[in-house]
Amino acid sequence: MTDIKLALLGSRGAGKSAVLVRFLTKRFIGEYASNSNSLYRKRLSIDGRQLNLEVFDPCSQTGESRCILEEPLEWADGFVVVYNISDRTSFLNAKNILRQIKETRGGETCKGEVDIPICLVGNKQDLCHSRQVTEEEARAAALEHKCHFQEVSAAEDYLEIANLFTKLMRHVMEH
Ligand code: GDP
Repeated sequence: MTDIKLALLGSRGAGKSAVLVRFLTKRFIGEYASNSNSLYRKRLSIDGRQLNLEVFDPCSQTGESRCILEEPLEWADGFVVVYNISDRTSFLNAKNILRQIKETRGGETCKGEVDIPICLVGNKQDLCHSRQVTEEEARAAALEHKCHFQEVSAAEDYLEIANLFTKLMRHVMEH
């Protein structure tokens, strides 16, 4: 049995809990109480391997609340960094978080490059009529930080979200 620990990071309101609940239950929970840190566990199998997945969903992370970030930054094997495509501030915060992951875990490979599995997730794709972050700039940020990138809608998609978690868990298993 392989243990995989993921941390879900991003601004309050970006839809972290909605993305995670969609992945775990296939359902969209519109108003989810996310005022406290939560740890979710799920047993699943990928490519025939049994996994114990733990996902840490801290209540919120902004540039100022660095202390909240430190614990999951040290603990996790991989990260899901979520922003809201209709909220530019959440994207800027996501880029800060990518930088902080790099600062904290960047020394893990011989070249000093970040090789830690990360997926940058642009959530609320259904709100693209009020989009404030283009796919191109998000892709550029993902390239800069050597991470996966996916736009999703927790309100409307399940498969995209399941795929991104599966891809990330595969990356963790290879890491
Ligand atoms: P968190 O603070 O990052 O955990 O965000 P929540 O998961 O609590 O979501 C914040 C708000 O955004 C809630 O009102 C959700 O219903 C809403 N929300 C989450 N995901 C989506 C989405 O994909 N589309 C839309 N339209 N709303 C969403």
